[in-house]
Amino acid sequence: MKAAVIYGPRVLKVEEVEEPQIGPDDVLVRIKAAGICGSDLHYHRTEDVNPQKRLAGGHEFSATVEAVGANVTHVEVGDRVGIEPLVGCGDCRYCAAGNYHICKNLRHLSGGFSEYTTAPKDKVFKIPDHVSFEAASILDCVAVGVHAVQQAKTEMVDTAVVQGDAAIGLCTAQVAKANGARRVIVVGHHNSSLEIAKKVGVDHVINGNDEDPAQAVMEITNGLGADVVYESVGGTATTMEEAQDMVCPSGTIVVIGSFRRSPKLDFRKLLRNEVNLLFGWSYATWNGIPEFQISIDLLADGRIDTESLVTHKFPLDRVSDAFHAALDKYESGAVKVLVTP
Ligand SMILES: [Zn+2]
Ligand SMILES: [Zn+2]
Repeated sequence: MKAAVIYGPRVLKVEEVEEPQIGPDDVLVRIKAAGICGSDLHYHRTEDVNPQKRLAGGHEFSATVEAVGANVTHVEVGDRVGIEPLVGCGDCRYCAAGNYHICKNLRHLSGGFSEYTTAPKDKVFKIPDHVSFEAASILDCVAVGVHAVQQAKTEMVDTAVVQGDAAIGLCTAQVAKANGARRVIVVGHHNSSLEIAKKVGVDHVINGNDEDPAQAVMEITNGLGADVVYESVGGTATTMEEAQDMVCPSGTIVVIGSFRRSPKLDFRKLLRNEVNLLFGWSYATWNGIPEFQISIDLLADGRIDTESLVTHKFPLDRVSDAFHAALDKYESGAVKVLVTP
């Protein structure tokens, strides 16, 4: 089969590799659409990437079932499926409680940038016919939003702010709205992404290049601040410093972004305002229901629009161009770049 192989930073080739084999509890799937995630790019960008060649990641994908192992009964050949990429060890106390996202041995399925890959049966979810493969390839981002919104334990709030206009931010904003936030504000830095935010139902957008985000949130909320702030940027951004200036007293900040430095927080101010500071790492189950399944249901009910987030599509042969478009967001205006073998 054909698969994208990384040889080093920005060196991606499509070549013939051996087709993966399945065990009795596995499903062999044919990839239909695979999204490029920030973490795929991270390895592509890193200068010290292991020069040893390896498959190019790809953990956000939808597929059809090509073959099933002997113990697989819930899907059959030809079914349209979404694949949850998170796999815990299955043995520890966190896995036993359904919280495999915090399992010490959590691993990610990959192989999205190939013709075929395999997944354990419990990570393979049927998707309804009216949900496109493109839409379903973004379920991983929706599920991160579902988990973040569940973490905050908020519904019917007045105002939710999402910092970040990439796929996870735009998914989280929609989940917050679906969960009952009266008003959702997205703070970003890319006009093209913020236009998409408006298209998918976000009430206000703030471009941090043009105005002070905290001040703008205060104006929109008549000086009250936001009930919940979802931070989805991370890296070296100053979003947390901004978040503490836009959250209302007794409000909640949920950190989803992965930071490379620790933000400078004003603990006295956070204490005085009894701000709840929470973290949302990936996703798992909620009251026993996979958050991935909740995401499928939100998509199937039309309460979330992920198709509008797809800005670019490339065939597998052009995976290198796809990575380039995803890396160069300002130039390409990319939100979600898909590879469709
Ligand atoms: Zn991802
Ligand atoms: Zn575990």
